Amino acid sequence: MLRNFNGFKTDKSKKMIQETQHEGQSAARQNAGVLIVGAGRVGLVLAMDLAWRGIPVTVLEQRRRGEPPEVKCNHVAVRSMEVFRRLGMAEKVRAAGQPDDYAHDVAYRVSAVSDLELTRIPITGRRERREGAPGPDTGWPTAELPHRINQIFLEPLLFEHAAAMPNIRIVNCIEVSDFDQDAKGVTVHASSLDDGAELHFRAAYLVGCDGGRSMVRKGIGESLQGDAVVQRVQSTYIRKPKLLSLFKHRPAWATFSLNTRRCGNMYAIDGKETWLIHNYLLDGEADFDSVDRDRCIRDILGVGADFEYEVISKEDWFGRHLVADRFHDRSVFIAGDAALRGWADEAILDAYVAERQPITEQVSVFAMNHAHAMAKARGAVPA
Ligand SMILES: Cc1cc2nc3c(=O)[nH]c(=O)nc-3n(C[C@H](O)[C@H](O)[C@H](O)COP(=O)(O)OP(=O)(O)OC[C@H]3O[C@@H](n4cnc5c(N)ncnc54)[C@H](O)[C@@H]3O)c2cc1C
Repeated sequence: MLRNFNGFKTDKSKKMIQETQHEGQSAARQNAGVLIVGAGRVGLVLAMDLAWRGIPVTVLEQRRRGEPPEVKCNHVAVRSMEVFRRLGMAEKVRAAGQPDDYAHDVAYRVSAVSDLELTRIPITGRRERREGAPGPDTGWPTAELPHRINQIFLEPLLFEHAAAMPNIRIVNCIEVSDFDQDAKGVTVHASSLDDGAELHFRAAYLVGCDGGRSMVRKGIGESLQGDAVVQRVQSTYIRKPKLLSLFKHRPAWATFSLNTRRCGNMYAIDGKETWLIHNYLLDGEADFDSVDRDRCIRDILGVGADFEYEVISKEDWFGRHLVADRFHDRSVFIAGDAALRGWADEAILDAYVAERQPITEQVSVFAMNHAHAMAKARGAVPA
């Protein structure tokens, strides 16, 4: 029999860490529980996958329950949809996001509201998918086609589904600061963002799903290899209900503006009134502050100075091609799914790096090459 691991407030009068039992036995250790830092997409999906395999999981997240994520990811790939299907939530995900009849097309125009549409990739929206209409991404031998949904809609669904699973405990308002590991497992040190109390958690394994600035990654002493800057992007999340009525062509999920004033792209977020606009800095532009965000947005949209819009949030970010040189140190991992499966021998954990690192490198190279190709296309617009 195993006891679950728990978080304890520091109590100097007694030892505050609850140890798991049966340490040293491989199967027992794998079932003694996993701590995950970060309830973003990766942390929540990993938690559900482990819980689905009968492994108890605690997820520690600094955000408050219900606090929305940043408006970043807009696309869910086939493989992720297949995982959602296995977890019993693919329908929920597909039903969320934009309205039923909003096209998932990618449109290339001179500007978002321009008369001149250069070309378009027609991609079936939710209703057409349901009706089995063919499209450029429907030929996959899969039960679940990709879906377009922003993470502000996706993540609450993941959270709700994960929180309802019996083997998962999600603890919000916890900032993890450090960890130690020994032969028996990992001790995580954290503080409550509600009252500042020191907390300590003990588990057999720790997985850092704590995003780009990962504390866990630094804790295992990895370094990042690759190109620190591939592109620089000013992203602005705006609200403008009237924009939809200004389009001269069928609305699209992604609209690329190609012109001599400012190239950029825009994603429809709710399919009604909210939009995410990416403005790519040019080589000669020194930094984010030297670029007139508002003017660039107007050029990408193709609207004049009298066009009013609300800025909901903004983020300046670097596209990078950086891959960690190590993915785990003994019982601590920085992401993954196959690594912690309950049915396998512990030796499978060593395969994690061999399996994931080449894939991570491939994805990173693909993203970098795509960014270079798009920058070249933007730069090739004739004057
Ligand atoms: C503009 C933009 C567009 C993108 N578009 C796409 C796309 O279309 N498709 C796609 O697949 N990807 C896209 N991405 C990438 C995608 O957003 C990320 O890969 C994804 O969000 C990473 O998920 P994650 O769960 O690993 O990390 P995050 O989403 O960053 O989540 C990390 C979580 O950990 C928590 N956390 C961090 N540190 C601590 C700590 N010390 N203690 C407790 N909690 C902590 C954070 O609060 C957060 O909730 C895009 C990225 C950007 C910037």
